[in-house]
Amino acid sequence: MNSIEVLNSHNLKRTSCREGIIDVMLTAKEALSENEIRDKLLGNYDRTTFYRSFKTLEEHHILHRIVVDNLKVKYAVNPALTGAQAHAHFYCKECNTVLCLTHIPIQNPLLPQGYLQTETELLIKGYCSRCLKPNPHHE
Ligand SMILES: [Zn+2]
Ligand SMILES: [Zn+2]
Repeated sequence: MNSIEVLNSHNLKRTSCREGIIDVMLTAKEALSENEIRDKLLGNYDRTTFYRSFKTLEEHHILHRIVVDNLKVKYAVNPALTGAQAHAHFYCKECNTVLCLTHIPIQNPLLPQGYLQTETELLIKGYCSRCLKPNPHHE
């Protein structure tokens, strides 16, 4: 799927900023923060344009939000766009990378009767293979 198809499938108007953000996200190898997305965006968009486009994409679930803690929030394309299901994420404490572990689906937990699950998140924290190699001394 390319950015135009993504926007069309959500009945969203094509704008160069929306397309640009989706392009960045579709080619990203890891989850990105709002600032990282903005830095990678080709073309100059003012803060308001960027913010509005970004919020629209999030509201339409084209992007999914991964909250590491209240200072670290990253985004990736919604797994449904690429055929993946709800999945675990990995956070590297050394390089702050957040990866979508699309091969680790989140199982639906058995909740007490009367409870309704709307979102379930699984965030695994640790060290990525890149960070472990040169320096094995981690707590
Ligand atoms: Zn790392
Ligand atoms: Zn993800």
